[in-house]
Amino acid sequence: MIQTGNLNFAIIGAGTAGLATAILLAQQDIHITLFEKAEKLEPVGAGLLLQPSGLAVFEHLDVLDDAVKLGAIVTGLEGQLPSGSKLVDSHYAQAHPNFYGLGIHRATLCHVLENKCREYPELITWKMNADIQRLKESTDEIRVYGAVNGETFEHAFDCVIVANGARSELRPKSWVKVDQAYPWGAKWTIVPECLDFAPQILYQFYDKSKIMMGILPTGAVPTAPEQRLSSIFWSLPTDQLGSFLQTNQARSEWLKEVSKRWSPVADWLEQVIANPEEKQQWLSANYRDVVMSKFGEGRIGVIGDAAHAMSPQLGQGANMALLDAWALGQAVQHARQNESVDYPQLWKTYHQHRQSSTAFYQFLSRLLTPLYQSEHWWAGGFRDLTFSWMYRIPYFRKEMAITVSGLKSGMFSQMKYEDIAKK
Ligand SMILES: Cc1cc2nc3c(=O)[nH]c(=O)nc-3n(C[C@H](O)[C@H](O)[C@H](O)COP(=O)(O)OP(=O)(O)OC[C@H]3O[C@@H](n4cnc5c(N)ncnc54)[C@H](O)[C@@H]3O)c2cc1C
Repeated sequence: MIQTGNLNFAIIGAGTAGLATAILLAQQDIHITLFEKAEKLEPVGAGLLLQPSGLAVFEHLDVLDDAVKLGAIVTGLEGQLPSGSKLVDSHYAQAHPNFYGLGIHRATLCHVLENKCREYPELITWKMNADIQRLKESTDEIRVYGAVNGETFEHAFDCVIVANGARSELRPKSWVKVDQAYPWGAKWTIVPECLDFAPQILYQFYDKSKIMMGILPTGAVPTAPEQRLSSIFWSLPTDQLGSFLQTNQARSEWLKEVSKRWSPVADWLEQVIANPEEKQQWLSANYRDVVMSKFGEGRIGVIGDAAHAMSPQLGQGANMALLDAWALGQAVQHARQNESVDYPQLWKTYHQHRQSSTAFYQFLSRLLTPLYQSEHWWAGGFRDLTFSWMYRIPYFRKEMAITVSGLKSGMFSQMKYEDIAKK
């Protein structure tokens, strides 16, 4: 137990999880030191899809209107096979008439959260170019060790929130059950908005478990609000990421492969994908699979990808990071009784909010990802058969839409949007 009023928390990592947590804790008058390895918050990155769960947190944070201005409303996800038939046909309205998703550029997501953080200059201290390497907990404090601007740094805090992403070296080793790289990743690039197909749909294209492509409405970045964008994803085994589309010949062969299966998509790609020598930026994304036995104990908590990285197949990572931040805010509020913080109570409440939901999405991700990205000969056929059958049954259609919305808290339970969004 320690006195409040001058509570000092450190957050390691100013990504989605870290920024959202800084806002929610500053709103409770907690002093935050936000350590970020990068020199500046200039997130390069593809678009990602905020689900109703993440948007509920945005509403709670009071940043939803700003995000909607620059983002792109998405009403559903359609996944096509080469035959033209729809393998996935999931629309948010099937979960709730008011639900929608928001395609958003990573820079915009960061901009919106950073602006909100800047409203608390007395409570949030920024430490950029700060590489935190080690934590040491004792009865009364937790010490953070690292380098800030190249100089050795050491400081004591009341509590440390580890939010430094999938490759975190700071999560307590004894809590980690699984920490491994996925054998598949993706190439992605950003292009002007795709208007050849419905602009409010996330399109995916699959052939067996070897080919998967996505076109995501991405909205605009803050520095060019008039230029609407789309993100293109192309899935590949990690050992092929480096050699993708290196020559003009590779580009035409790739377009031919797409055209054989989805000719209108190839026609659009032909216009927006430059020749390799024009140096269009295709970046590589690698994924990790991280499973932990717990997310917090004593004076340490682990949130976001650091706690539960998974493949982006279900489009939940950033949303789970936002839900973690929300749950931490709730748990801290709950544990601050009589001017003191009861850490066992804090983590008990946090785990009640997050453990079963996280376990559900991690289970589903590990079950489904090989059906889209693997060398198993049977995976694609099995998927095509079971999914087309499932989509004919209204119960499963609705369950699928709720799952995509990010609000499942277990196989047969769900969180309510309003409970998260309320202030
Ligand atoms: C290609 C791709 C597509 C995706 N699509 C979606 C999608 O559609 N929907 C979705 O919800 N999610 C998606 N995701 C997942 C989503 O991007 C992540 O789950 C989310 O960004 C995790 O946020 P985070 O804050 O936990 O971690 P990060 O965003 O990784 O932030 C961690 C931060 O910590 C900093 N850091 C690292 N180490 C240190 C250190 N030692 N000291 C100080 N700072 C440190 C890093 O510089 C970084 O800024 C996608 C991911 C990829 C790769």
